[in-house]
Amino acid sequence: MANILGIGNATLDIINTVDGYPAENDEVRSISQRIVRGGNVANTLVVLSQLGHDCTWGGVCVNDLFGQQIIADLDSYAINIDYCKLESQGSVPTSYVTLNKRNGSRTIVHHRNLPEYNFTDFKTIDITDFDWIHFEGRNIIEIAKMLARVREKYPNILTSLEVEKPRINIDSLFSQVDFLLFSKFFAKNYIPTDDAALFLQNIRKLSANNLICAWGADGAYALDTAENILYSNAYPPSQIIDTLGAGDTFNAGIIDSLCKQQDLAIALEHGCKIASKKCGQIGFKGLQII
Ligand code: ADP
Repeated sequence: MANILGIGNATLDIINTVDGYPAENDEVRSISQRIVRGGNVANTLVVLSQLGHDCTWGGVCVNDLFGQQIIADLDSYAINIDYCKLESQGSVPTSYVTLNKRNGSRTIVHHRNLPEYNFTDFKTIDITDFDWIHFEGRNIIEIAKMLARVREKYPNILTSLEVEKPRINIDSLFSQVDFLLFSKFFAKNYIPTDDAALFLQNIRKLSANNLICAWGADGAYALDTAENILYSNAYPPSQIIDTLGAGDTFNAGIIDSLCKQQDLAIALEHGCKIASKKCGQIGFKGLQII
């Protein structure tokens, strides 16, 4: 099993389940509410840890009751939090999620009032023993420095970058990582198309590395370094219950397979299977049994 470091967010998710998405200015009552730990990288690590990998989180948290809840949750999944930077100012990043019970869609309003994990924080981590480092595509200037350090001093460590949202200069990182994990949301903002393969071929101009893109209910696509377009269909569960974190789970499935030296086509299928399973259940517990 691999030793994996994830750099990015852990958040507090306040999830209201509603019976149908409300119209603007409506007042509706939620069917239920959950307050749980979320965050893209944290979700990915929680899945990877259940798949048997040794996981470490590098990110920022606040030393208050919510922050302690986040840390306790990561700890319960045996994720190493030694490199978490604890702030006494600010508040935990919070996602206000409206989960539509009818189709599992999740609409998110995010609030952030906390400094990002930076290069100085990253340098405190002894990365010698990591096999893989997964980065959330945010805080681009600092991530660029982290990637440069990994490439210069530890060229054997494999790297992946989650590219979920369009951010200024995020494309400057594309040639610096071994595996790029795009969201459909990013793809459709980058080039107005329903053709994932066309999107990946456009990205090829910026990076010669492995390009992967989740495509919601239609599964996922990849463009490998030998220029093959790969595809896996999704594996719809009997009912779509909760799609929050489907992309993060997909990313965990990809990293899990690749850490086991499986090829990218197998990884794509594994990512889709585990992400589809996640869509059929609340939260992330028990995803290791596909
Ligand atoms: P996100 O919106 O979280 O970034 P996606 O919606 O692209 O992520 O979904 C990621 C993966 O989850 C997809 O590649 C697919 O395998 C699975 N998935 C998502 N939605 C469905 C669905 N409705 N049915 C089955 N699988 C799904």
